[in-house]
Amino acid sequence: MRIQKNISLKPYNTFGIDCQAHCVIHVKTEKEARAFFMKEFSWKKPLLILGGGSNILFINNFKGTILCPEFGRIRIEKQNKENVIISAGAGINWDKLVEWTVNLGFGGLENLSLIPGNVGAAPVQNIGAYGVEVKDTIIKVRTISVADGSTRFFSNDECKFGYRNSVFKNEEKGKYLVTRVYFSLKINPEPYLGYGSLKEEVKKLGVPNLKNIRKAVINIRQSKLPDPEVIGNAGSFFKNPVVRKSAAGELLKKYPQIIYYDDPSGGTKLAAGWLIEQCGWKGKRIGNAGVYDKQALVLVNYGKATGKEIFDFSEEIRKSVRRKFGVELDREVEVVGTI
Ligand SMILES: Cc1cc2nc3c(=O)[nH]c(=O)nc-3n(C[C@H](O)[C@H](O)[C@H](O)COP(=O)(O)OP(=O)(O)OC[C@H]3O[C@@H](n4cnc5c(N)ncnc54)[C@H](O)[C@@H]3O)c2cc1C
Repeated sequence: MRIQKNISLKPYNTFGIDCQAHCVIHVKTEKEARAFFMKEFSWKKPLLILGGGSNILFINNFKGTILCPEFGRIRIEKQNKENVIISAGAGINWDKLVEWTVNLGFGGLENLSLIPGNVGAAPVQNIGAYGVEVKDTIIKVRTISVADGSTRFFSNDECKFGYRNSVFKNEEKGKYLVTRVYFSLKINPEPYLGYGSLKEEVKKLGVPNLKNIRKAVINIRQSKLPDPEVIGNAGSFFKNPVVRKSAAGELLKKYPQIIYYDDPSGGTKLAAGWLIEQCGWKGKRIGNAGVYDKQALVLVNYGKATGKEIFDFSEEIRKSVRRKFGVELDREVEVVGTI
């Protein structure tokens, strides 16, 4: 266990917000994490569990304790001719896990290549990209209770996965530390190339095998998304809003070019990036905050933005989308702190 006091959080969030943390605790084993929650150490509330900090916007200095789970290995649990069950510890970098599965020919995670962050956050967020969500492969999640250090497994159903959503963001928010995630992957996978641009990119590379799909996803992402090492950001700042079919129909009459998809809920999912772009925000900058010029869903920190500056900027975007389209945008990024 490594304890740091009164440090800058700049290296701990991909937005690159420079605020202070009262205490950051790095736990190196699951045993250490359990001991921490069994009150063998005294720590100041509130608690924030932090992975790669790639989906977080810090608004103020954090006055409580930040816990960084930095443990875990990847294991093959069971294998037959068709399926393999693997598990990975919370502290493993997500893309390292995807790379490992692709190299071994295990299919299911390849469309989720290059998503920043760690394994522990994947079920919390139900990460998704190119028509695939991690919920489709997760069979169970091992956790430690923050209240007493006990172990609890959540089945896929108990995780109550939704679009960038799970039980860990709702009724169980802040109550469990995810320590290990179990995935069921395919030995002879069927590629999922439902997204037009992905199909095209894979075609350029040759046959649609796992390695080419991964390579294609990486190529597309690198051409469209800003690298947090170069310019601070947290990926899509807003979720794609889901509206009633009737409301989508009205919008379609007025804006025939609107980008939309059928949503499994029965509603219609609108492309938030398109709505934001139509309001004139793409590439706009106010002070140190801006909208990325290649992707209107991504807000960026041009260097010295505060979390509050990014937040206020995002509120202006929400207001203008509400005014023009009557559509409410919800944040995908978690705001930590008080406004
Ligand atoms: C350039 C870029 C592109 C992105 N593209 C995508 C994309 O295509 N699809 C997508 O879904 N997301 C995307 N994201 C968002 C982000 O990568 C994911 O949400 C990722 O899962 C966050 O992982 P993290 O470890 O950084 O989590 P953090 O940001 O550290 O934490 C996110 C939340 O999870 C909680 N948490 C983290 N670890 C644990 C744990 N072990 N136990 C319990 N709770 C925990 C935190 O408390 C917090 O509430 C992108 C981000 C960036 C910067």
